[in-house]
Formats: sequence, structure tokens, C-alpha cells
Amino acid sequence: MNLASDPVFGYILMNLLFSRGGQAVPPYMKFTAGKTHSGFAQFDPCPMTAMKLDILAIAAHPDDVELCCAGTLSALARSGKKVGVLDLTRGEMGTRGTPELRLQEAQKATEILGLSVRANAGLPDCGLENTPAQRDVIIRYVRHFRPDICFVNAVEDRHPDHRNAARLTLDALFYSGLGKLETLESDMPAGGLERSSGNDAGSSTETGKEYDHLSQKPWRPRHILHFMQHWPFDPTFVFDITQTIDIKEKAIRAFASQFDVSENDEGPQTYVSGKRFFDALRGRARDYGQQIGVEFGEPFLYYGGPVPLSSLDVLFGSKPQR
Ligand SMILES: [Zn+2]
Repeated sequence: MNLASDPVFGYILMNLLFSRGGQAVPPYMKFTAGKTHSGFAQFDPCPMTAMKLDILAIAAHPDDVELCCAGTLSALARSGKKVGVLDLTRGEMGTRGTPELRLQEAQKATEILGLSVRANAGLPDCGLENTPAQRDVIIRYVRHFRPDICFVNAVEDRHPDHRNAARLTLDALFYSGLGKLETLESDMPAGGLERSSGNDAGSSTETGKEYDHLSQKPWRPRHILHFMQHWPFDPTFVFDITQTIDIKEKAIRAFASQFDVSENDEGPQTYVSGKRFFDALRGRARDYGQQIGVEFGEPFLYYGGPVPLSSLDVLFGSKPQR
């Protein structure tokens, strides 16, 4: 039996990784207006306390996580896990809506999903590149939030930003674990300092040594999962979202400028704006749910080798029809 290719491992993996239970869902933390640093526009997560997250989903555009893994994120948040989202761009190149509107929509979706925090890295939409400067922006957030598990765009997908986000994020997550790559907590957007340095995250010494104690510690997540967007793949596992499909769809509809737009809307129609696309999302969730014997599911690719297991108890708790 090839365990790594069996979709039932959605259930298995999540039980393994999240065996702790029970805390209340922490309050949603609001956005504040951003500064700039490293040459990229920023939206601040606020307040920037040293919040340790269980899960951080990192995606190219605001609404990517809603489309691809919101049912899973919502389920995990409701089980007591600290779940956050880092949107890499503000979606300013989108055909419909504006960055400001999409930010408001992201806030609304964040509340619906019960996330602990949502941040926007302010990297350029349609300009994601696997460069040291862009990696360093991501590394600061990863070291700040210290997630055990990261959800990342699929490496192969229709939109170039999704593909570029995947490569950029994977490399950033690796470099984030290197001790000699120095970053400062005070370089975080709401860390209280405006840094004027360019591409080198560790060389911001202009404001002196008083903030040296805010050096960020290396951090690499234990597990990386890729979520499915446009192009399908053979999933490593499928997560049961039967209990959260309605929450997921409500969160997607929070992006009212993008999805399920009325045919009478005067704005330009896009690949994703019509009812057909929205219906297809539910159809896909139903299809993957069927594959693991539940009503709705979200597929994932587990990155980085075999799924580590020490028990098969979860197999006894599932009944997929084969
Ligand atoms: Zn996208």
C-alpha cells in the first residue's frame, strides 16, 4: 500500500500533527495602515506581538487561501489551533476591484474563518520573483510567527504568480532556518522602526545597536503542504471539510469584487467572476470528498518526503468506499 498517495491521509496527517486540543480561538487581529520597507508596500499585522502560530498559509493573492484551503483552515482554527495567513501581494493587478477593497474583503474573510492573524507582505502583484529581497520579507514573517506547518501555493499552476509564489516561499522557508542569515524583529512592518536598508535583511544597522536584542531566531516549519488551485494534481491526502464548506463559501463570497458576481454587474467579467466558476469549486470539493468517503474535501500535496506515522489508528476511524 502506498500510504503517501492515499487521500485518506488528510484525516491521518491532521490527527497526527494536531493531537493537542482545546484552546479557545484567539481574537482576530485587525490590519493597520502600512509603512514601506525593503522597497515594498506593506500592510501591517497589528499588534505585532510575538505570536506563535500552529499554521501559516502563505499565498500569492488575497483570496487564494479562501479558494484552496479555507475549509481546512477554518476547521483547524475551530479546533483551537492558531492559524494565520500571509498574503504575499495586495492583488493590485487584478482585473476587478482595488487593493484597498480587496484588503477590506480579506479582513471580512479573516473574521469568517476565525483566523488569529492575517498579514500582507506587500510584494508586487505579477512581480513575484525568487530574489533575496523578496525572500527576506517572507523570512521575517515566518520567524515572527514560527509556524509548525505552512500551506503554500502549488508549484505548478495556471497563474504565473502562483508558481512563482511557491518557489519563492519554499526557498524562503528553507533559508529561514539558517542561523547565519540574520533578520531583525524590528524590521517587521509594525516593529516600531522604519528601516532604510535595501535587500540585505541582516545589515540594517543604521539605527544603532539598541535593537540588537530583537534579532530573530532561525525558524523552519516542520511540514509544508501545497494546496490545489487551478491545475489539479494527485493529492497526498484530502482533508474532510464537510463541516466547514459553508464557512469556506461564505469567506469566498466576502471577496465580493472577485467571485459570484451578478451577470448584471457593469464591471468586466473574468475567468473567476461568474456563477459557473463558483459552482465548480463546490463540485471539486464534492469530488475530493467522495474519494475519501465524506461529502466535501480539500486536496493537498505533502512536500518533503513520506508522511511520518507512528500509528494507524486513524485508518480504523475512516471508511472510504473503494
Ligand atoms: Zn491567485
